[in-house]
Amino acid sequence: MIKRIIELISSNYYSFSQLLYELKKYNIKRNDLINYLIKIEKICKIKGWKLTYTPSVCKNCGFKVNEIKPISKCPKCKSEKIEEPKYFIEINYGNKKD
Ligand SMILES: [Zn+2]
Repeated sequence: MIKRIIELISSNYYSFSQLLYELKKYNIKRNDLINYLIKIEKICKIKGWKLTYTPSVCKNCGFKVNEIKPISKCPKCKSEKIEEPKYFIEINYGNKKD
């Protein structure tokens, strides 16, 4: 599963729900995906890949939470209108010889 997620987010930016949608046939739940993303972050550190993710942004007050896991509620204004993170992996980061 981790390999599939890495394939997806190294080819294009995927938001959290886009990933959930792509992985729907594997019956992946929200929390499973969060755990996979945390594992992928560790793998990227070991392999020297650059994992980029955008912060969760509150659409109501603009508060940002820069974490790999999406937030469901704004910690500041309690709004549930949250723009979720998007993920991308640059596999050849630091190894751009060709
Ligand atoms: Zn807010």
